[in-house]
Amino acid sequence: MFHVEHFGVIVIGGGHAGVEAAAASARAGTKTLLISFSMDGIGVMSCNPAIGGLGKGHLVREVDALDGIMGRAGDRAGIQYRLLNRRKGAAVQGPRIQADRKLYKAAVQDLLSKTENLQVLEAEVAGLDIRDNIVAGVILSDGAVIEAKSVVLTAGTFLNGVIHIGNRSHQGGRLGDRPSVKLAEQLAALNLARGRLKTGTPPRLDGRTINWDILDRQDGDEQPVMLSFMNTQPLVDQVACGVTHTNAQTHDIVRNNLSLSAMYGGHIDGVGPRYCPSIEDKVVRFADKESHQIFLEPEGLDDHTIYPNGISTSLPAHVQLDYVRTIRGLEAVEILQPGYAIEYDYFDPRELDESLQLRAVEGLFFAGQINGTTGYEEAAAQGLVAGLNAAQRVKDQAPVIFKRTESYIGVLINDLTSRGVTEPYRMFTSRAEFRLSLRADNADQRLTPIGIQYGLVGERRDASFKNKLASLEGAKEELASLSITPQELVRRGAAVSMDGARRNGLAVLSIDGITPSLLDDMAPTFAALPDPLREQIITDAIYDRYSARQQAQADVINRDEELKIPKTLDYTTISGLSNELTTKLVKRAPDNIAAAKKIEGMTPSALLLIISHSRRAMKVA
Ligand code: FAD
Repeated sequence: MFHVEHFGVIVIGGGHAGVEAAAASARAGTKTLLISFSMDGIGVMSCNPAIGGLGKGHLVREVDALDGIMGRAGDRAGIQYRLLNRRKGAAVQGPRIQADRKLYKAAVQDLLSKTENLQVLEAEVAGLDIRDNIVAGVILSDGAVIEAKSVVLTAGTFLNGVIHIGNRSHQGGRLGDRPSVKLAEQLAALNLARGRLKTGTPPRLDGRTINWDILDRQDGDEQPVMLSFMNTQPLVDQVACGVTHTNAQTHDIVRNNLSLSAMYGGHIDGVGPRYCPSIEDKVVRFADKESHQIFLEPEGLDDHTIYPNGISTSLPAHVQLDYVRTIRGLEAVEILQPGYAIEYDYFDPRELDESLQLRAVEGLFFAGQINGTTGYEEAAAQGLVAGLNAAQRVKDQAPVIFKRTESYIGVLINDLTSRGVTEPYRMFTSRAEFRLSLRADNADQRLTPIGIQYGLVGERRDASFKNKLASLEGAKEELASLSITPQELVRRGAAVSMDGARRNGLAVLSIDGITPSLLDDMAPTFAALPDPLREQIITDAIYDRYSARQQAQADVINRDEELKIPKTLDYTTISGLSNELTTKLVKRAPDNIAAAKKIEGMTPSALLLIISHSRRAMKVA
């Protein structure tokens, strides 16, 4: 029986948002209770056994910089590491891992169990105790009331969740989990703007029935890059993934059975994730493509379940078996669990302020998929912010608002609360105005000081961060104090023009193609640094060159908010605009840049294109 009755913060839901919210609130020193349907379900990865990627990897690093759970748990479960976009600039590189599902869940639960000020309760929250528009606690399904000053709701896909497999559907929060219906009814009575979204997952395959010998394989990176700043190398064994492709026969089966698909048979009203299309979507929307790549991802080291990334579906189970068996290597495959789609309620995030507190109910915070996002990382980032601010409220302290200029967390929350969502929102680096400075590699320098300020960061990370910073600053000062002539640089083999200008060491290291060890004899502190720190200094030096241009572009967007967009502007002729934005711009026909800025999914580079084309069109007219 549970006896404690009053908490500072209660978090409802033990998914990725709830875990970070509860841990952040507790780390900030507030007595916190995490309530979830099932203890065992805490930290479950509902879909893809992977964390990170482009944009998402940046969010994981930011959560980690604030001493959150995701990066540390991810490294304990990382069975394959890949730095996406490795050949491109550091700003768009995203760390990603393939995770062992069981190890990830166990790591999350272990980290939570070691978090001071945090208790966990297995129960269903059936209602919120709200008095005069101020939250006072939660009501469990057995009628028990637990009081709290702040409540964070992170119910994910469980609010009025309906699972669809072909033309069969039933209520559920995930396959095998019940939905949260009573809570959804009470939330409906608050009259918040809300809608329905959907998402899907592929069938899970039995790896023992896959013909691996005829498939290509994809290994992890030779020099793996960790998710957490606290780790330097993988902690568990590494595995390879298989690669295969759909073909004309696969597409025929999918096409011939579209009427049986929940997505296409008219059984689902909700809007699905644009960037994670189902196999039905791919066959219809990209009809000219003869083949789609599928990664066969192991779900764990001691698990023969394989996640076929790229073929999520809501076709009936027998059709799923038919089409997967047309795929090379899968001719005799057995399905362990069919793919399915889930439809659920979400709330318009414009009902929230930037601390993620609901405007209509004081002390009630929303985070994660219920705010219309998709993905573990987006959920985790919001959870951390909601948990921190719920704790700030308990301490009667001002909310902490993350700025677009300093973090992807800020971009995410500002996008959500100012533009709202009509389709599942996922993070991309293109959403940020300041992406050259918001890099995954420098997330700790941007955010760990904020985490320290608000009590989020533990002693170990605090000490390790301060050491790292001192090393970086010492080496940077040393490099900045150098004054090197072009003659000297040429003598050392650097390709620079003989312009007579002396350069300091940082300027030298920012020259394209420069040998990193060129200045080692002149800068012994820099020379003695470990490789990752040397790389960090060089990356900072390179990106410093672009920071003025980045600022100027952000200024143009802000300055030109009132600029009129000519009615005659033909968006379909602007090269560089995505199809998604072109369609939205044609439909909405915004009058000026401020209106264009509010369009869901709008990016800074698209705004710059619209500004320059509007100006050009006005000159011509
Ligand atoms: P969840 O992880 O859903 O966690 C919600 C938690 O709340 C659960 O622990 C639940 O037990 C608890 N809970 C709910 N109601 C109550 C209550 N009343 N009382 C107590 N506890 C409660 N993301 C992608 O990026 N790509 C994908 O392809 C993708 N596919 C998906 C497919 C499926 C089928 C599903 C279900 C999700 C998919 N996702 C995908 C989304 C991803 O899983 C979520 O974005 C992420 O898990 C959201 O985290 P969350 O914390 O908001 O919610």
